[in-house]
Order: sequence, then structure tokens, then C-alpha cells
Amino acid sequence: MTTNRALFDRARAVIPGGVNSPVRAFTAVGGTPYFVARAEGPRVWDVEGNEYLDLVQSYGAVIAGHAHPDIVAAIRAAAGDGTSYGAPTEREVLLAEEIRARVPSCEKVRMVSSGTEATMTALRLARGFTGRSRVVKFAGNYHGHGDALLADSGSAVAHIAADATAGGVPGSAGVPATAVAETSVVPYNVVPRLDEAVACVIVEPVAANMGLVAPVPGFLAGLRAECDRVGALLILDEVITGFRLGRGGAQAAYGVVPDLSCFGKVIGGGLNVGAFGGRGDVMDRLAPDGPVYQAGTLSGNPLATAAGLAALALLDDAAYVTLHERAARLGAGLTAALNDAGVPARCPVVGSLVGLHLGDELPLDYAAAKRTDEATYAALFHAMLDRGVALAPGPYEVLFPGLAHDDAVIDQIVAVAGDAAAAVVASRAI
Ligand SMILES: *Cc1c(COP(=O)(O)O)cnc(C)c1O
Repeated sequence: MTTNRALFDRARAVIPGGVNSPVRAFTAVGGTPYFVARAEGPRVWDVEGNEYLDLVQSYGAVIAGHAHPDIVAAIRAAAGDGTSYGAPTEREVLLAEEIRARVPSCEKVRMVSSGTEATMTALRLARGFTGRSRVVKFAGNYHGHGDALLADSGSAVAHIAADATAGGVPGSAGVPATAVAETSVVPYNVVPRLDEAVACVIVEPVAANMGLVAPVPGFLAGLRAECDRVGALLILDEVITGFRLGRGGAQAAYGVVPDLSCFGKVIGGGLNVGAFGGRGDVMDRLAPDGPVYQAGTLSGNPLATAAGLAALALLDDAAYVTLHERAARLGAGLTAALNDAGVPARCPVVGSLVGLHLGDELPLDYAAAKRTDEATYAALFHAMLDRGVALAPGPYEVLFPGLAHDDAVIDQIVAVAGDAAAAVVASRAI
């Protein structure tokens, strides 16, 4: 039997950092990542046979839990018919229709292969439609790793970026200053004053890559009004919130109508999918009908659309009631368990998302979110992992309870959190 350590050593010899996405390397928490062998429902098992109750859930992509039988069956059936054709298929139409039925602002939809592709293309489309080039994003919002949006991002970029305070500072080496010269970064939860050079404002309607930060009342409506005032497009990045906060995502929950929306994660049922959609007159600017180019060999992939349709079929109104109850139980339980053990924590809940901020204040923006106690998060992460619960290996990710996390699972997680927090406090006292 191999070990996590042995695999990580081999991985680092052939894969930069040993991982294919930085947060997985445990840089923020230290130690050796566990290599997953298999997963089912709320549980994952690593190559050493250790079992974890999993709150990562592929960063929210597997909202129905790992290896849900309906989704596995749909993928199996699709695979038998061929895995990619380079020609259109019926399921692409079905998925686009399903998205439009749930999110009416998406009059037309295009499928891509990741959330990054969705936001990148939405940006290009907004620029092509308006003939303007400036984009406005919010500090701590993460929109994937496209050059123009990699400025002052949350998620794992928080541990790479230099502290960028003003706009236009690249969040990564290799992003030329020119790529973000037309990107303005402004604080979350404050409606910026725009001018007529702005093509679009892109925002996470609920910020879920700097811990969990809900929009303050009036923020999203204010963005809509300010975009309308100057003729800029409003892009909601619903890669996390889409099909998770409810049937209609954050835009339905908060009553804001964007020009364009970006999706990923849930929409793929755990496979490689992203999508963006919006106003018909804007979407019609895309190739082949319009001059804004976008394409993809694997776009609308038959396995991915099968998985996405199967996932959405599970997400009826009752499922969202269940998801919200689970998240509320987890948030309240964790808040009590951690504070009772002497670890100050705030665990905000929005729909089925739960944040874990280590400190006394409830952050409203990135500056406040970054005051989370990173060292304690790392200690708590390992104390919980040792006790069989997997949080995300970074203090700016959120917790993703899903349909597979029943009350017993959540209560077990909360009990582990209490024990782990007590152990962290005890180790400090020595
Ligand atoms: C994950 C994420 C993305 C990027 O999606 P990928 O599929 O990882 O490229 C974009 N926006 C938000 C809000 C995300 O959470």
C-alpha cells in the first residue's frame, strides 16, 4: 500500500508543487495532503484507508455528495455512447433550457469547461458588446485564473499575491501590468461610482472566496443602478452560488437581474463544466453570430452535460429546504462548539454556504476577512483532520454541506470541531 507521503514525494517530482490546483498542496495549513482513493456521499477515503467526513465536496461541485448513484448512472450511460464528438447534441439543448428555466435572466446560455472560462469569456463579451475596456472587480472576489481578473483575488491566491490595495496590481507573476491595467479593484460591499469607460462590473453576489461574506442590503441593487446609469453591464459570478442558494441562485435570492451570469461547480455535477448566459442581445454578439470569439473542443461535453442534468434533477424545491436546514445546523453548531472551547469564531450562513471566520467580528470586506486567525485555522484544520473531518486546506474557503450531510453527520462534525478546538487551546496553554 502506498502512503500519502510517498505519493506526495512522487507527485512533486513530476507535477509542480505536487498538485494540479494550488490550494490542494496544503501550503496554507502545512503538512502533507491526503491523496483521495475514493469517495461516497459525505465521506472520502485516502490511499492509506483513512476516512474523513468531507466538507470540501470539490469546492461545492458535488452538491449531492460524492458518487451519487443517479449521477454515476447518467455518466455511465453517456460514456457508452461516446465521450466527445465535436458536433452538437440534444443534452446541450436540454441543459441550456434547464438553466434558462431556473435563471430567467439567462435568455441564452453557452457551455464551457470551467468557471474560469466562463468569467474570462463573459468579460470579453462585455467588452465586445460595450466597446469599452475597463472592468471593475471587488477585492477578495475570485473569478478563476484569467489574467484580467487575477488582481486582489481571494481563495488560494490570498497566499500568493502581494498585498494589492489599489486597482490594477497583478495577483500573480506572469500577469503583465497591461493585462490588469484596465481592471479596477474596489472594496466589497461598497457601491463604486462608475464612469463611462466601464464595460462591466463583475461580482460574487455572495463572496465565498474570502471566507463567506454576504452582500449588505442595497449593495447588489446599488450595483445594478450604477451600471445602468453609465451603460455598463453587470456580471454576476454565480460559479459557487448558482443552483446552490436556491433554484435561481443568488440573483433570485437577492432580487437582482444581471446582464450576464457565470456558472460552474454545481452545474457540472462534479464534471468539468462551466457556463455563462444572459441577455439575448448581448449573447448574440458571440461567434458565430457575432464578432466576439469563443470556442472549445470539449465544450458541452456529453458526459458533463449528462452529469449536470442529473445533478439539477436532484435539486428541486424540497432539496433546497433541506440544504438550508443543514447549513443552518452546521453554522450554529460550529459557532457554539468553537466559542465554547475557547476559539473565537463566527460562522455565517447564507443559503447552503457556511463560513468559518476565526475572530470576533463578522467581516464585510476583504480587509476584515484577512483578519481571520490563519495560524489557528491551520491548527484547527489539522486537529479536525486527525479526528476524521476534512475542512478545506485554506482559511479563505467556505464549507460546503450538501444533500449527503444528514443531521447525524453534521452533529458528528460539530462534536469533532469542539474536541479539536479544545485540543488546539490546550496545546497553546502548555
Ligand atoms: C471556483 C470559482 C471560479 C473558477 O472556476 P474553475 O472551474 O475553478 O475555473 C470562478 N468564480 C468563482 C466565484 C469560483 O468560486
